[in-house]
Amino acid sequence: MDRSVSIPTLLEIAPGAVDELGALLGGVAVDLERPLVGTGGEQTAGVAERASAQLPGATLLTGLVGDRAGVEALVGEIRAREATVCLAVGGGRVIDTVKHASAQTGVPFVSVPTALSHDGICSPIASLVGAEGRRESLAAVMPAAVVVDLDVVRAGPARATRAGAGDLLSNLTALQDWRLAAARGRDAFDGYSALIAEASAHAFLYLAGAAEELSLETLARGLVLSGLAMATAGTSRPCSGAEHLISHSLDALLREDARLHGEQVALGTLVAAEAHGGVPAELRAAYDSLGLPRRAADLGLDPAVVVEAVLGAPATRPERYTILDELDLSRDAVKALVARALDD
Ligand SMILES: [Zn+2]
Repeated sequence: MDRSVSIPTLLEIAPGAVDELGALLGGVAVDLERPLVGTGGEQTAGVAERASAQLPGATLLTGLVGDRAGVEALVGEIRAREATVCLAVGGGRVIDTVKHASAQTGVPFVSVPTALSHDGICSPIASLVGAEGRRESLAAVMPAAVVVDLDVVRAGPARATRAGAGDLLSNLTALQDWRLAAARGRDAFDGYSALIAEASAHAFLYLAGAAEELSLETLARGLVLSGLAMATAGTSRPCSGAEHLISHSLDALLREDARLHGEQVALGTLVAAEAHGGVPAELRAAYDSLGLPRRAADLGLDPAVVVEAVLGAPATRPERYTILDELDLSRDAVKALVARALDD
């Protein structure tokens, strides 16, 4: 049996793409009659205004923060204004809010990330903060179009780009976990989705330290492909293993002090790789050239917090079998593992 996967009708990754948005979207089957453009705070509002200027009659909504309440409010706006297409111009929170609201209303969604901070820029999964302050992953729809303006993401915070690099490289340990789970009969493995996730991470791994422009474009492509891997798999499995559980656990421990998703995942990847038999030299080298954290202290964290996070990680998603399910999770053993994985 074959399978169908929704993929965007338009993918543009180029410098200056935001100022070509009207022409780009005009060439695809998206109804531009009443566009609604959602964005976050001041950092992205300027880009959102440029995007709106490309779309006659567009309504601009600011202040999307990525919680369930924001989604409900946006669903109301989409219905009241009878929006024909929703654009998300911003970081992960804005994209996830618009993505989920679009899924609820059936209105096509266009992803215009202003930062390459995680692999949700082109995925069918939205991560939102629920009523109790916990992050939850929700099913959403693939964007109808993805437009990455390389000038915009280059001008954004370097920290966000590093986080995206961490999220992309985490595919490597996520895939080790997926293969392990399949070998233990705890999950079904899908080689095609794994291939996409692995190839995108590898391409980036071996380009780390290349010229910035090339590296940025490869990162954007890799994150888009990671989204495709999750869409073909029908689960986040190809891009989310023990390192993500460690990050979820850090979210629960640190609450509003949590670091960026991809930063935490980057630390988790080192711990997961160590648990799988050792951190490969090329991964350490990529971390160094990309400026990714190799110590808890690089994120301003105490290694004891990382130990705590590893101890709590399996409970954040008990059904996801990973290397953590095969470890001695006594405090002393986890302490030793974290000490081997990180350079604190
Ligand atoms: Zn992630």
